[in-house]
Amino acid sequence: MQSYKIQQHKYDVVVVGAGGAGLRATFGMAAKGLNTACITKVFPTRSHTVAAQGGMSAALANMGEDDWRFHFYDTIKGSDWLGDQDAIEYMCREAIPAVIELEHYGVPFSRTEEGKIYQRPFGGMTTHYGKGTAQRTCAAADRTGHAILHTLYQQSLKHDARFYIEYFALDLIMDADGVCRGVIALDMAEGTLHLFRAHAVVLATGGYGRAYFSATSAHTCTGDGGGMVLRAGLPLQDMEFVQFHPTGIYGAGCLITEGVRGEGGYLTNSKGERFMERYAPNAKDLASRDVVSRAMTIEIREGRGVGPNADHIHLNLMHLGPGVINEKLPGIAESAHIFAGVDVAKQPIPVIPTVHYNMGGIPTNYHGEVVRKLGDDPDAVVPGLFAIGEAACVSVHGANRLGSNSLLDLVVFGRAAANRAAEIIKPGAPHKDMPASACDAALANFDKLRHANGSQSTAQIRANMQAVMQKDAAVFRTGSTLKEGCVNISKTFDSFADVKVTDRSLVWNSDLIETLELQNLLGQAVATMYSAENRPESRGAHAREDFPDRDDTNWQKHTLVNVDDKGKVAFDYRPVHMYTMTGDVDVVPPKPRVY
Ligand SMILES: Cc1cc2nc3c(=O)[nH]c(=O)nc-3n(C[C@H](O)[C@H](O)[C@H](O)COP(=O)(O)OP(=O)(O)OC[C@H]3O[C@@H](n4cnc5c(N)ncnc54)[C@H](O)[C@@H]3O)c2cc1C
Repeated sequence: MQSYKIQQHKYDVVVVGAGGAGLRATFGMAAKGLNTACITKVFPTRSHTVAAQGGMSAALANMGEDDWRFHFYDTIKGSDWLGDQDAIEYMCREAIPAVIELEHYGVPFSRTEEGKIYQRPFGGMTTHYGKGTAQRTCAAADRTGHAILHTLYQQSLKHDARFYIEYFALDLIMDADGVCRGVIALDMAEGTLHLFRAHAVVLATGGYGRAYFSATSAHTCTGDGGGMVLRAGLPLQDMEFVQFHPTGIYGAGCLITEGVRGEGGYLTNSKGERFMERYAPNAKDLASRDVVSRAMTIEIREGRGVGPNADHIHLNLMHLGPGVINEKLPGIAESAHIFAGVDVAKQPIPVIPTVHYNMGGIPTNYHGEVVRKLGDDPDAVVPGLFAIGEAACVSVHGANRLGSNSLLDLVVFGRAAANRAAEIIKPGAPHKDMPASACDAALANFDKLRHANGSQSTAQIRANMQAVMQKDAAVFRTGSTLKEGCVNISKTFDSFADVKVTDRSLVWNSDLIETLELQNLLGQAVATMYSAENRPESRGAHAREDFPDRDDTNWQKHTLVNVDDKGKVAFDYRPVHMYTMTGDVDVVPPKPRVY
């Protein structure tokens, strides 16, 4: 192995990722006097959060009756009783001050006539425990993520956090006692390696949607934090739960926000029928995402899809009129025009369920601290390591996330991590000595991939992985195809030993970066497929045709999954937290989930 020169940096905390979650944590920590660095592989305002359209939920009651307890109930029901109820209570209560805080930081929310924050209906969001429709999703037209991300970046600059932009984090540095001591990263422009020492590392690296062929997420959503965690020998949680958004543009994968249905848009099949009335008589087109995606898939399978191949569905908003479209959904009109060639005032948008969100991720408590099972303790904290945002599994979304609960999760748990770090870290505390070998494993992996000289290109292996995931870990799953999926994804994982990287340099080596990203994706693709095969029930986004019912007796528990460097999979479980944080609200016991 070549010897590498490594530059050292010392901080109180290092945040990896500058999306909504990473930025909220970064400026929160800086504001509390911690010397804070934020490492990001893309410029902060290009993080995937910028693409969020529909909005952020909070029971403000600006547009009719609402209560955070209704939001708490909806989120538990949406999670199909796999969410941790203490964490859900924390998130739904904190939602209200979190939105007001964002407003004061300068987020330009849309407004009601009286000047209050505009709120739209969203799937699964109700009042009075499922009886009414809530208007709970706070929106800045259909560009809410853009508005929030830019505001959070401005706050981070104001609070003097130090940014390392276009640095690619490679691996966590863990000590012999299992404590996280820092992270090693590559400066992509200069081609230099950097060790960031820190009392806490916060992983805010986003989801791994790009394990699939068709996803609404950006090409940068490669689950790098999850990959680092697996290489550190720590487990991921609930990876079988992958959300398909009902309305990705057919053929292009770009998202059409649920806000379209919130504003009155509806789905039709080839007969022009509003079929959601049959599947969800109350909520109809605003049932939760897993329910709508399954209904669309059944319509297509039974021959009632639209288009020459009867393989997609129509989303109609012609009846809304130019007023609503121009004011509330301008970005959608533009996307539909560019990516589907459709004028939304005159024609329906062709849509299909598309991979959108990863409920699974790095297990944490509601302070954002990473947890693992240790002896009898299912909630043992991994010292020095936090995870927040889509990379994490708190678990507030359980088996299915409600739309507009993710932007909320980013801000609430980004802030919670900052508060916790300020409690446990003394600014300027000295760093422990590190053995000279601390970075050896990370460097060996990096050097091996840099010089990889096999026979298959990164693009080829990635295409194989995406095809297997798209086919066998889909909206509907069954034992035989999942078994086949396990065999095929393991084969693809093994083929990575034969990868070829053609560029050996270190400066702007996109071939090498994509290979590192593929390595991260592959571990999580294996985790997802095997976890899905291992769970013999249907819950939330995980719909098994061979086990159509939810099995609370045996399977109301979180899956923990380890994948080692040979692709070997091991399972363990953690109990779901069926208790609340304060006792101000009652635990919601499991019941059938109908909309
Ligand atoms: C099209 C679209 C629309 C959506 N709309 C909504 C919505 O309306 N409401 C809602 O609640 N949710 C929505 N979601 C979901 C939500 O936007 C995402 O879950 C959320 O933005 C993820 O934020 P994050 O901060 O966790 O990660 P991201 O925003 O994905 O940011 C990840 C960050 O990590 C950095 N990073 C990653 N790997 C590395 C590495 N190896 N080294 C250094 N840096 C790294 C990246 O540079 C980036 O800064 C939407 C998602 C999509 C895809």
